[in-house]
Amino acid sequence: MTTLLALPDSGIPPRNSFAPPGNKSASLRGGRPRTLTLALPASRPAQATAMASGAPDAGIERVLWTEAEIAARVAEVAAELGADLRRLREPAVVVGVATGAFLFLADLVRRVDAPLAVDFVRAESYGDGTESSGRPRITSDLKVDVAGKHVVVVEDIVDTGNTVSCLIAHLEKKGASSISVCTFLDKPARRSANFQLVGDGKFYRGFECPDYFVVGYGMDFAELYRNLPYVGVLKIEMYKKDTSN
Ligand code: 5GP
Ligand code: MG
Repeated sequence: MTTLLALPDSGIPPRNSFAPPGNKSASLRGGRPRTLTLALPASRPAQATAMASGAPDAGIERVLWTEAEIAARVAEVAAELGADLRRLREPAVVVGVATGAFLFLADLVRRVDAPLAVDFVRAESYGDGTESSGRPRITSDLKVDVAGKHVVVVEDIVDTGNTVSCLIAHLEKKGASSISVCTFLDKPARRSANFQLVGDGKFYRGFECPDYFVVGYGMDFAELYRNLPYVGVLKIEMYKKDTSN
């Protein structure tokens, strides 16, 4: 018995890799599948199945960045960010975008040698859970007052740029005096929304990511794989084509 999960846009592997031809659920808009129907055993999610068949990472096609490579790069980004934040007259507010940025944020701020506040926002780019609107909305807002503050938005991936654009507009409306973006991964090849940093804001990134759907180090597929300490590409066998509709 299988359960069919219709995944949001953010849960889609790269075009030409996993988009099943003729699958109505995987409609293409702007050259990218918007939803994918995944067949999972009713009581065992894909990661659990992979774990049962061997290592917890049995579903990973290949590793793009190891735990050691990530740690080394995060230290470099933190050093650059720390040097910039130490020049500010008052502490910055570091805003993590839940849930994907939680590990990067935690590793980053522990290595930033400057006073700072930490808060989270949640942004979702789909309404009914199946179709990405391309217009993200804030579903969980900040607690910290950012008026007159320098804000650093911390993301797992900047992909199309829609989420970051939306967050920058939101933070600007709240009166942030300057806004930087610090993303663990950057997929510039897929950018469709060009976002504008505010004031003295800077763009920091860990790695440039090739056009694959990646998981691990906070990033999920159907809410799984976030706990992998490295970043990898999922095996194609982890996805099942839906031919029933
Ligand atoms: P945007 O397209 O708005 O720039 O990115 C929206 C969100 O989609 C990202 O913050 C990230 O959470 C998710 N996303 C984009 N690409 C990937 C990917 O390759 N893997 C995973 N797990 N999430 C992704
Ligand atoms: Mg994200």
